[in-house]
Amino acid sequence: MIRDLELAFIKIHILYHADKEAVFGVGLMDELARHGYEIGPGTLYPLLSKLQKGGWLTCETQIVGHKQRKYYHLTPEGRLLLAGMRQKIKELYQEVIEG
Ligand SMILES: [Zn+2]
Repeated sequence: MIRDLELAFIKIHILYHADKEAVFGVGLMDELARHGYEIGPGTLYPLLSKLQKGGWLTCETQIVGHKQRKYYHLTPEGRLLLAGMRQKIKELYQEVIEG
């Protein structure tokens, strides 16, 4: 149950960061760890592909050094979803934090 709740927060973080700039797996894991979320590749990559299948992220492969790296961007649909979530977060914040 705690994991379910955290996964929802993690997804919102991913959408938010993918809106600001192209994101990639390792970078996201570092960023999420900074926020106190321990997430390994076995959880993150399936999550990214789910968000991609939902039409919220697009993926593009680039060569960095000699390695392929997948970069994810927010789609227009993703941007709409994020806007809706922002509203819900605001409401939740007002109720749970501000009382
Ligand atoms: Zn973040």
